[in-house]
Amino acid sequence: MPEADQARILDGKALAAQIRAELTERVAARVAAGGSPPGLATVLVGEHPASQVYVRSKHRACREAGMASFEVELPADASQPDVVAEIERLNADPQVHGILLQLPLPGQLDEIAILQAIDPLKDVDGLHPENAGLLAQKGRRPRFVPATPLGVMRLLEASETPIEGANAVVLGRSNIVGVPAALLLLRANATVTLAHSHTRDLAGLCRTADILVAAVGQPEIVRGDWVKRDATVIDVGINRVEDSEAKRGYRLVGDVAFDEVVSHAGAITPVPGGVGPMTIAMLLENTFKAAELQDS
Ligand code: NDP
Repeated sequence: MPEADQARILDGKALAAQIRAELTERVAARVAAGGSPPGLATVLVGEHPASQVYVRSKHRACREAGMASFEVELPADASQPDVVAEIERLNADPQVHGILLQLPLPGQLDEIAILQAIDPLKDVDGLHPENAGLLAQKGRRPRFVPATPLGVMRLLEASETPIEGANAVVLGRSNIVGVPAALLLLRANATVTLAHSHTRDLAGLCRTADILVAAVGQPEIVRGDWVKRDATVIDVGINRVEDSEAKRGYRLVGDVAFDEVVSHAGAITPVPGGVGPMTIAMLLENTFKAAELQDS
């Protein structure tokens, strides 16, 4: 149990389990009504070990929710036309409602062109420019938003952190996490600052944050004195650090020095068990949404 003035721990694992249980019921109802099970295809090029772990857990999660999943594995030296041909095959397959291209890709491949080959109605990772544009532009309704920032928002909602009018600082500006997280916070009427590796005085900037989202991939870069009292801290980072006492020789830490921040933040997500499980739950939700969209 945390001490009285310690941050509330935002349990992403429990929230994700609840969301997945609800989704399992929705899938069952869809199938009982004669619909096809929502289907997710993953495309993995090469043998990136972390990607293999992520892909396996996505397929397991699909099975547990009663969804179909399709695994496409291509060799590390696959050519651009090989990968695009696979994407086009999946675009045309009615059993596949969502397509996820596992990144990063080997260097010979043009990531932007391959992402653009995905049918925007099957783009459950929200990386096709049509979907990124729908999120970015005022007055439009987003269709698919990347799963991790969606998970960040659900955790913030569950924490009952006021977002409207809050100062939100997002560390990291990737297409898959930082930028969409900032756009979602902006849509929820936070005042958003997006920081990156050229930002001056990162610590001072973080101290202005009522909501701090860290997605830089730098182990424990956010120190205790970077976080203002009672701020809500969402730690997206997943970093392996060597640990000779750990069974695998490493342990996972976030971008936030949890032990330093937990003493005075208002709420904080742990790593593991925070954003990570939410990402999978949101990917399943996106796949379900894709199936419904393709029915209509
Ligand atoms: P990227 O490497 O694509 O982006 C990292 C961002 O952080 C860049 O914008 C970079 O700035 C910025 N950055 C790097 N170093 C610093 C620094 N010292 N100070 C300030 N900014 C810095 O990473 P991702 O967005 O893909 O992932 C970020 C982290 O989140 C990783 O640890 C990843 O493993 C994790 N992750 C976790 C997920 C989950 O489900 N929990 C899902 C996806 C990612 P610049 O643009 O200037 O280079």
